[in-house]
Amino acid sequence: MKTLFTGLMVAAAFAVTAFDANAQTYPDRNITVVVPFAAGGPTDTVTRLVAEAMGKDLGQQIIVENVGGAGGTLGAGRVASSDPDGYTLLLHHIGMATSATLYRKLAYDTLNAFEYVGLVTDVPMTIVGRKDLEPTDLKSLVEYAKANKDTVTVANAGIGAASHLCGMLFMSAIGTPLVTVPYKGTGPAMTDLLGGQVDIMCDQTTNTAKQIQGSTIKAYAVTSEKRLDIFPDLPTVTEGGLPDVSVGIWHGLYAPKGTPAEVTERLSKSLQVALKDPNVVARFAELGTTPSSAEDATPAALKAKLEGEVARWKPIIEGAGQFAD
Ligand code: ASP
Repeated sequence: MKTLFTGLMVAAAFAVTAFDANAQTYPDRNITVVVPFAAGGPTDTVTRLVAEAMGKDLGQQIIVENVGGAGGTLGAGRVASSDPDGYTLLLHHIGMATSATLYRKLAYDTLNAFEYVGLVTDVPMTIVGRKDLEPTDLKSLVEYAKANKDTVTVANAGIGAASHLCGMLFMSAIGTPLVTVPYKGTGPAMTDLLGGQVDIMCDQTTNTAKQIQGSTIKAYAVTSEKRLDIFPDLPTVTEGGLPDVSVGIWHGLYAPKGTPAEVTERLSKSLQVALKDPNVVARFAELGTTPSSAEDATPAALKAKLEGEVARWKPIIEGAGQFAD
């Protein structure tokens, strides 16, 4: 009995030592970060830029894996059930918070299935349309949508996506449901908007800036409180008469529950370095995407943000009566 007890003590001590050593040598191989949307969209773009810079800082490559579908909940579920060893991460946006209420049943418990690394960005949405859509400003877009509600199509990245949230706020503000077309991300949705297969979409400036500047799509409004430096002529939704469509999108970096704090702290430090990387700063600026401050790129700040946003959107989503199974 004594021998067994001693053996267990030795095993426990060894486990602690092995764990410490792992945390100290972390990372010693490639890391995968899951983007819960298709390639080519804003979350993908943000992640690839940040992953490259974090990889340089960590001395290991960060591989981006796109797991799109069900408004980001498939990718989030995949990470929630991954090993909590710091080698599988999730970069998700505001949808992490809204899905907690939008979905009657999720494969994970939003507030208890993840460890936090830090906030990554703050970015507004733009309301955009295909290039040859008739309306020229937000007011005429609202009239047009109301008059053609059975045929106007609105692209989104599925229930739970930021584009879905912004579209829901738009439809609720104009009191008219429109025909929605879900994609696995707004990367492929943008391809269809450019090709004229869908009419309108809400999407982060990360994905729309270049298209708006190149006049390959029409821009109607930005969802920030103030106009953006990159589109000084584009009115805000409030200026255009739809203040309730104001919404800011944020991204956060997560790890599965149980990932050691030493690891999430190391990742947070690396995230802070990445968000100051000259290439990331320059590309984000071109795309109207604000990197989070060093204070916000921390586990505590992301935890507070997610908890606050779940509570903030719950009554709005319940009020709109929009749920998915
Ligand atoms: N922008 C998308 C959204 O609607 C997601 C993406 O493809 O990044 O949330």
